Amino acid sequence: MKKEVQEIIDIGNNIFNKNLVSGKSGNISKRIKSSNGDIVAITPTLKSLANLNQEDIVLVDLDGNLLTKGNPSSEVFMHLEIYKKRNDVNGIVHTHSPYATGFAFSNKRIKRLEGFGEIKDPYLPWIEYEKPGSEELALKVGDNVGEGDVLVLKSHGVVCFSKNLKEAESLAVFIEESAKTQYITYMLNSAEDII
Ligand SMILES: [Zn+2]
Repeated sequence: MKKEVQEIIDIGNNIFNKNLVSGKSGNISKRIKSSNGDIVAITPTLKSLANLNQEDIVLVDLDGNLLTKGNPSSEVFMHLEIYKKRNDVNGIVHTHSPYATGFAFSNKRIKRLEGFGEIKDPYLPWIEYEKPGSEELALKVGDNVGEGDVLVLKSHGVVCFSKNLKEAESLAVFIEESAKTQYITYMLNSAEDII
């Protein structure tokens, strides 16, 4: 378990240093499959993802029962809904990364750029706003995970989920870069040529 917990700590540091999360925002989890029932290791509530310790990471079962001391992220039920709906998902990264979240607050959608694999829908899927940390948000995310690997949460942020945590991290980085590229494109297209 120590290795799995360390991966969460390392990825927390990575995404903090890449400015995908700031302050105490964002949360990360990893599913550890077991014949006695899956265990989910998740970051704590009200703590920065920078420099977490092993004892900060909280273990829960798929129903949200605490298996260790501590207070899990307020979005723990959103993570659990995804794991319950998608047996192939073993890692989740939720951020309020600035460019992607800027799109989430706007009436513009984020396009799928190259690198996402087969492009079925040109835009990332999104769901209507529900209060962060609420059961309504958790259930709406669970109902909309589909077969994809990302959901934009309207006026809130982004949640990325994949077969492992490293992939979910890469996806979170890639989506933020995609949103940034699109933002720059919009700005350039709307700017007067000054040369
Ligand atoms: Zn959030």
